Amino acid sequence: MSLKDIIGDSEVCRQIEALKDNRRLPHAVILESRDTTQANAAAKELAKISVCSSSGKRPCGKCLNCVKAEEDIHPDIYKVKITDKKQAVGVGEIRNLISDCYIKPNEAASKVYIISDKMTAEAQNALLKILEEPPQNVRFIITCESSTTVLKTVLSRSTLFKLSAEQIKSADELDKKAEELAVEIANVIPQNTEMPLLSSLSKLGKDKALAQKVFEKISLFVSIALEEKFIPTGKQPPHIRELARVLRKKSLVSLLDVTAQAQKMLAQNCNMNLLATWYCAKIRQSRH
Ligand SMILES: [Zn+2]
Repeated sequence: MSLKDIIGDSEVCRQIEALKDNRRLPHAVILESRDTTQANAAAKELAKISVCSSSGKRPCGKCLNCVKAEEDIHPDIYKVKITDKKQAVGVGEIRNLISDCYIKPNEAASKVYIISDKMTAEAQNALLKILEEPPQNVRFIITCESSTTVLKTVLSRSTLFKLSAEQIKSADELDKKAEELAVEIANVIPQNTEMPLLSSLSKLGKDKALAQKVFEKISLFVSIALEEKFIPTGKQPPHIRELARVLRKKSLVSLLDVTAQAQKMLAQNCNMNLLATWYCAKIRQSRH
């Protein structure tokens, strides 16, 4: 799984990718996400980047460091865990971490400490000392549901990445969401009123990867509707049958054209609000 699969094709993902490409992964990273599975997966991926021994793209996923990291058995990736039956990581655990982080890594070029459980204020203050003067080749990854639980002093010494729980996590999820939205849009196109169409298009938000997928699917629906218009089978799903029934061949052809243009605009990084308005107007025009 790549970082993009975990946190979506977002601005945050691009920021992390950029740091990674420059080999400038910060020594302390805070990953904020309401989705703890997402945060843990992202932490694992960042840890992998730190230990990977490839001279090319990291993580390579193939070197022994990557393989061990993937299996959660890398000796240089430490997960700071709550000991005893406590509610949060205490100062004791952080002290252990601090004395450990001056010891050279076992196998990789750097050591990574992942702290996923809440820390007490004392623990955070203890950690702060090491964040102010971190030993070389040591990285800290802190995950949290909300960065409000992290002391400001710790935040100021770290790089915060806010991963959104709403963000689409995998290719399958993206495909599923795109299918739902494309069907919704295909259903409102024959109504020939602007508001429902604009409202459905607004659900794309600023997610260009999602928009691209949605337009791909609309193109497919319209192509099938065109075929259905020539040789009706009556076997297509309702949204396609309705497109074929209500729209003339000419309108369907121009709808295909407009959708292809929308995809091109997306590839050129256009403004999403403008694209939605433009698409809506073009669809109305294609009806005449
Ligand atoms: Zn590797």
